[in-house]
Amino acid sequence: MLQDKDRIFTNIYGRHDWGLEGALKRGQWDGTKDILAKGRDFIIKEIQASGLRGRGGAGFPTGLKWSFMPKQSDGRPHYLVVNADESEPGTCKDRDILRHDPHTLIEGCLIAGFAMGAHAAYIYVRGEFMRERERLQAAIDQAYDAGLLGKNACGSGWDMDVFVHHGAGAYICGEETALLESLEGKKGQPRMKPPFPANVGLYGCPTTVNNVESIAVTPTIMRRGAAWFSSFGRDNNKGTKLFMISGHVNTPCVVEEELGITFRELIEKHAGGVRGGWDNLLAVIPGGASCPIVRADQIMDAQMDFDGMRAIGSSFGTGGVIVMDRSTDVIAAISRISYFFRHESCGQCTPCREGTGWMWRVMERMRQGNAAREEIDMLFQVSKQIEGHTICALGDAAAWPVQALIRNFRPVIEARIDDYVSQHGMAAE
Ligand code: NAD
Ligand code: SF4
Repeated sequence: MLQDKDRIFTNIYGRHDWGLEGALKRGQWDGTKDILAKGRDFIIKEIQASGLRGRGGAGFPTGLKWSFMPKQSDGRPHYLVVNADESEPGTCKDRDILRHDPHTLIEGCLIAGFAMGAHAAYIYVRGEFMRERERLQAAIDQAYDAGLLGKNACGSGWDMDVFVHHGAGAYICGEETALLESLEGKKGQPRMKPPFPANVGLYGCPTTVNNVESIAVTPTIMRRGAAWFSSFGRDNNKGTKLFMISGHVNTPCVVEEELGITFRELIEKHAGGVRGGWDNLLAVIPGGASCPIVRADQIMDAQMDFDGMRAIGSSFGTGGVIVMDRSTDVIAAISRISYFFRHESCGQCTPCREGTGWMWRVMERMRQGNAAREEIDMLFQVSKQIEGHTICALGDAAAWPVQALIRNFRPVIEARIDDYVSQHGMAAE
């Protein structure tokens, strides 16, 4: 288990001063000028060596992403964009960083921006995060007043501006290219990739889009070293991570832990165990709503990281762990998630626009049991026609929970249908 001394986010519960004075006491902004003096290549190589993978859900290697930014300027400005549009159900870690430890992110913007040749960073904050946006802006103002941002930031000779942009509450604007469209003042709809933002990003310029946590951990990695960060976790799954534990546990929480901790240990140590005891655990969604739901026996001893979750047929996503005990109607839970994706689809591509609504309507009938058993396979096959056939990952995200329900809880669906038939004396229409 991670020791307190190894935690990057030492004020995640807001027990101490969030402001600059408190941040300085906690060691933030310490030697930032010296870090920049080591040069762009050094910083990028160090982040690569740390093994840091994107903390927004996809887990793309952060240093590798930074390395895609052009080394030489072709006259176009470079931009860093921070994705603070945290909206994945079950996910609430970036919110706590913005609220309680905003200087980790702001210092990260300077270091990451410098490493990729950007003089401007835009932080795109989720529309519903009013107080978080105010807190972040206040912290940015403190940094400007102290000479940590702006012209000659930290006395480094590098000019760096950080701007906050407030979203309007659309989940799809968390998709990086929809976010860029929205930032440009357009309707937030995903773009086709490639080109990736490093080639054609904000205003057509080289851009890197990173999650809040990914940027906020970089100052500590640079101060303590890549070897320190990569000493946590295991190959391909390095470092510490903020986990968000919600649902039927005794003490829901956000906690920083080492990647690779087992599910059982994570829940026992930080969430007070499952409500009603371990025998009462039914199912878990391990990393936010788009991650496939798994049964208790599948996840109990699994390692909570990218490879661990892949090994049990799910994905690690954001680290938002949703725990469900035996009182849960899993069909209703997945139907509700289907409704969410139907509501949030931007409507650009037909399989997503039509498919998410169709899946939700069938899921609602499955919830009641008002379906034929053959429809279970049909639902699975239709979901396969959505997956991989859309512009962005929202189509996949809508299909995976439904597929996982059928894979892992088929007997529950069949029993619901059988009950309905026995009560109504007829097969479903
Ligand atoms: P993705 O795998 O398409 O991309 C991940 C990142 O890697 C992007 O920045 C992308 O530009 C980059 N990338 C990928 N391949 C590349 C290549 N060949 N060259 C250059 N860059 C490349 O995934 P995504 O659509 O960005 O994210 C999906 C994930 O987001 C889901 O798994 C989900 O867990 C998560 N998610 C998180 C939230 C949240 O609130 N944090 C909300 C919705 C979804
Ligand atoms: Fe829009 Fe859905 Fe297509 Fe993504 S997959 S671009 S959300 S319609």
